[in-house]
Amino acid sequence: MILETGELFMNNKRLIPILTLIIFLGVLAGVFTHMKNNHNPDAHTSKSKSQVKNAITNSSHKTKITPELMVVNKKHPLTSDYNPYNGSTTDNNPSGSGLSPATNQAKTALIQAMQKAGFKISENVSGYRSYRYQTILYQNYVQQHGQAEADTFSARPGYSEHQSGLAFDLIGANGDLPTDDQMYQWLQNHAHNFGLIIRFPRGSNASTGYMGEEWHMRYVGKANATKMHQQHIATLEEFTGLPGGDYNQDSKQDIPAISEID
Ligand SMILES: [Zn+2]
Repeated sequence: MILETGELFMNNKRLIPILTLIIFLGVLAGVFTHMKNNHNPDAHTSKSKSQVKNAITNSSHKTKITPELMVVNKKHPLTSDYNPYNGSTTDNNPSGSGLSPATNQAKTALIQAMQKAGFKISENVSGYRSYRYQTILYQNYVQQHGQAEADTFSARPGYSEHQSGLAFDLIGANGDLPTDDQMYQWLQNHAHNFGLIIRFPRGSNASTGYMGEEWHMRYVGKANATKMHQQHIATLEEFTGLPGGDYNQDSKQDIPAISEID
């Protein structure tokens, strides 16, 4: 005890500058906190501001969501019985049955124009796919590739745009999915004239949830497709302002695709 008191006494000279420093730091901290509270009112309100911003984004889309702009993606599923244009539930409707009449007409006109332009494209497509048929496809892919990889190129049942009746895959004359660059370029320049878009452009998977699929066409109507083309808006998610990308961790957070239609 004596030693400790003696030490304290002996170091008194050193203690004074240390205490001064502590007091100085205390005052500095006080001033800083004061400044923060006075000059950064966002510390209290930024959350409510961003909540308001989100509410605005959610309630007023960039574009009115008409039925032809319905977004079916990994966050916007369809119910298992959704089949508004009565497609076959046991195959991929190669003739175009199960597509909306406007989508079917656009499909036929596009294929004719592509054939005229020299592309070897089949008249058959992979069109409407029912929930039941998508289940079989997806399960096969998961068995072959594992779920993580399958999710990058095949939709889980209920989340496939093929079930909407507004989308179809072009098929090459050889039966394969066509992937050549020239065709991709041609579609980028001409698809809008038919009211169609490349639904999953290359390099847009953060927005769409899928890697590039230049064969997968989506009908949005001529006015919308032309607007997207002119304004260089690559994806339906960006055009509508609706969220896309990967699946929700909890499917309870999903919003039914149909309920987003204004
Ligand atoms: Zn497709």
